[in-house]
Amino acid sequence: MSNSVETFMAQVAAKNPGELEFHQAVREVAESVMPVVETTLAYRKAKILERMVEPERVVLFRVPWVDDKGDVHVNRGYRIEMNSAIGPYKGGLRFHPSVNLGILKFLAFEQVFKNSLTTLPMGGGKGGSDFDPKGKSDMEVMRFCQSFMSELFRHIGPNTDVPAGDIGVGGREIGYLFGQYKRLSNEFTGVLTGKGLGWGGSLIRPEATGYGATYFAQEMLATRSDGIKGKRVVVSGSGNVAQYTVQKVNQLGGKVLTLSDSGGTVVDEDGIDDDKLAWVMELKNVRRGRIFEYVNKFEKAVYRENSRPWDVPCDVAFPSATQNEITVQDAKTLVKNGCFCVAEGANMPTDPDGVDVFIDAKILYGPGKAANAGGVATSGLEMSQNAMHLHWPRDEVDRRLQEIMRAIHKSCVEYGSGNGFINYVKGANVAGFVKVANAMLDQGIV
Ligand code: NDP
Repeated sequence: MSNSVETFMAQVAAKNPGELEFHQAVREVAESVMPVVETTLAYRKAKILERMVEPERVVLFRVPWVDDKGDVHVNRGYRIEMNSAIGPYKGGLRFHPSVNLGILKFLAFEQVFKNSLTTLPMGGGKGGSDFDPKGKSDMEVMRFCQSFMSELFRHIGPNTDVPAGDIGVGGREIGYLFGQYKRLSNEFTGVLTGKGLGWGGSLIRPEATGYGATYFAQEMLATRSDGIKGKRVVVSGSGNVAQYTVQKVNQLGGKVLTLSDSGGTVVDEDGIDDDKLAWVMELKNVRRGRIFEYVNKFEKAVYRENSRPWDVPCDVAFPSATQNEITVQDAKTLVKNGCFCVAEGANMPTDPDGVDVFIDAKILYGPGKAANAGGVATSGLEMSQNAMHLHWPRDEVDRRLQEIMRAIHKSCVEYGSGNGFINYVKGANVAGFVKVANAMLDQGIV
């Protein structure tokens, strides 16, 4: 089996040179699904796995824009349309200086399996730009978004490709992007998700990824007759996913000890309660400040520059910032200090050796494509509401989100159980793969 994986990966690496994150994401899936591929002649004959790692389409474009001083800047825009076997391409846009083709291909590839797991009819895609919204004025962000959409609009549509937010793309950016799409297409449609509540957005969409990751952790803990209540919890990041993870953990009676950003980590042993979280939300979403400011306001907390939260003793960890933020050493530290549940709000936050540490230790480890699927699932619910010209109440969307997270957990258990242990990585990869692979078989060689 490992020979087949190595042969397959050698081809992927040769065809996609230098795209390390993409290789990493593909290898993880290949290791899980190769036994299924090897025992299913139809998958092998139809070259299902070989086709899955080849995007259906990649769009790469110039994004010129003018700053407040009148200087011209040029960024690069991308959209990766990875797989549409089970629905229109669906996946976020990331604006961050680290963005490149390999990172977006890893994210688009992950998205295919994640979207399949949600039970909703959504294919996989991802896009973005190396533009950094940090430190830019609202007008600069608006001009950038308008320029970005001036090219992207011809490639997307409510039945073709429906982008959403990701790192650096929140409600403000989605608003500017939607405005420009509408202006160019002369059509008011659900072409983006994460829209404002007054113009087609869904209740619970902002909360969905963080809430969903917490619901998924609850499901994992329930397999050991346990729950979030009374647990020491560490969270990384302080953006959308992190904020709503803290909110839900607080509602469920856990105690959140950390938040972070790319500058460092705040440790608050008294717990980041709802009042403190409200202050953080104002800091991050309105004033667009840095997390170190937390300790000026809450003086008992400690700020640690250039550090991550993983050495703070905890029961449950929610990595919610970015890829590869948990190294093998961090994973060992977490396990040594008693952490027994990791639910990934971020995409691929644990490096491959770190994943092995969690699996070898047999802790409850929920990989991103399962644990953070609540975001895209609720985007799917936003699309349904847009298509029906309806607006569901908060309770309705939250109930559906919880049902979907339970269904994803159930699929992981079904495909990942063995020897008295649930391997959620295997479960998520195989469950996500089978549905897409069968759809591809039905649709012929396209
Ligand atoms: P935000 O932009 O709202 O927040 C990102 C947070 O992560 C910020 O605190 C940011 O700090 C920090 N961060 C980003 N890059 C780095 C880095 N290289 N090193 C350290 N910290 C970093 O993004 P989201 O909360 O939306 O996304 C967070 C993660 O969750 C991503 O992996 C994303 O792909 C994933 N995700 C998001 C979904 C969503 O619905 N939004 C859905 C599913 C997954 P700073 O401000 O200093 O950059």
